[in-house]
Amino acid sequence: MSDALQAPRGTFDVLPEQSALRLTVEVSARKILEAAGYRRIETPAFEDTDVFRRTVGESTDIVQKEMYTLIDGGGRSLTLRPEVTAPIVRAYAEHGMHKLAQPVKLWYLSSCFRYERAQAGRYRQFWQIGAEAIGSEDPAVDAESILLLAAILEELGVRGVRLRLASLGTPASRARYRELLQAHLRAHEDRLAHDVRERIDLNPLRAFDSDHAGTREVMQTAPLLLDHLDAADVEHFATVRALLDASELGYEIDPTLVRGLDYYTRTVFEFTSEALGAQSGVGGGGRYDGLAEQLGAHATPGMGWAAGIERILLAAEERPVPEPVCDLFVAVGGDGAPERTAAFLLAAQARRAGVPAQVELAGRSLKGQFKQAARLRARYVAIVGADGIELKDMENGEQSAVPSPSAVVATVLRGRFET
Ligand code: AMP
Repeated sequence: MSDALQAPRGTFDVLPEQSALRLTVEVSARKILEAAGYRRIETPAFEDTDVFRRTVGESTDIVQKEMYTLIDGGGRSLTLRPEVTAPIVRAYAEHGMHKLAQPVKLWYLSSCFRYERAQAGRYRQFWQIGAEAIGSEDPAVDAESILLLAAILEELGVRGVRLRLASLGTPASRARYRELLQAHLRAHEDRLAHDVRERIDLNPLRAFDSDHAGTREVMQTAPLLLDHLDAADVEHFATVRALLDASELGYEIDPTLVRGLDYYTRTVFEFTSEALGAQSGVGGGGRYDGLAEQLGAHATPGMGWAAGIERILLAAEERPVPEPVCDLFVAVGGDGAPERTAAFLLAAQARRAGVPAQVELAGRSLKGQFKQAARLRARYVAIVGADGIELKDMENGEQSAVPSPSAVVATVLRGRFET
């Protein structure tokens, strides 16, 4: 098939049934997040490339090979957002949100773009729901944020959910730990995967992510960051855990939890689902206390997460696709223009009154129009003819003349109320 007749590799069309399912995710997330004081934000689909380079990290897969970067007509380097946290912190700084009561709590539903190897659950354009609380270091922010994602996944029926949790400490404790880890990796360099060896200087932490057998063995005896945190980080992490314990949210401490973005500090977490295959991450996030400064803004702590809509739907219990509703189908009962116009206007009047209504739009015979009404599962069919309007109740089959368009609308409204 010609490329012009196919969506690009790794992308997909959201067809109407899928769209209806995705709306259920949006509705649950919005309800849960807005009840906790989060308000929706939207940022542009592309940003100055530096927004991601400075924050996500030069050594990460995202920056090294997954960004869709383009030079625009004015010679600027722009990048389709591979994630939304950095753009939101950019917006927080740009709009002076530090003047508002802190933390500023924002949520989003946005498309993201990554040039990844396409497979089930991994796409080149995908949608994330996310929440960011910016402007407070309080560990209660971390615990609340994690609980909110847990609540969303639970409400949506995501199966086999596990929560992994860790702390990455502050940049200072991480820098000291990095040296220890680098020394360990160098001591066992000959057993490491090529790409891990290449990244000993740039990003030794990513060695924990490797699937390579030799590397995995070496990592079993590697020093762990969790054992090398500052006292303040230890206390922060203990408070987060105590709040999660008090909330009876189960989790596992995973000292090897490494996320694919460099900006995280202190708390990091990930929800996985056993219902997913290799791409088991449903959502995750953490604290990013250095991100604002990396962008060139005032130091501002922040905490947030993102969850992929497609992964949530893949991992959730099957649910019925919500059916479109048609309460009134308006059939044209004659050949003349006046009947067609009257039918057209009746449908519009019904919709203005809040009745889901459709009018015949394809020149079908009256028999064909009734078939169409049945396909739409219309509750009523109005037949607009030269001699007036008849209304048929499709549930009991009764049909009678109705004096005016308003009377049709009133009857249908009454019918909706009664059923
Ligand atoms: P990340 O920003 O990489 O931490 O990803 C957060 C969430 O976004 C993941 O847990 C997934 O649910 C989703 N996600 C990330 N990358 C992709 C992708 N390429 N395709 C589909 N969903 C993704």
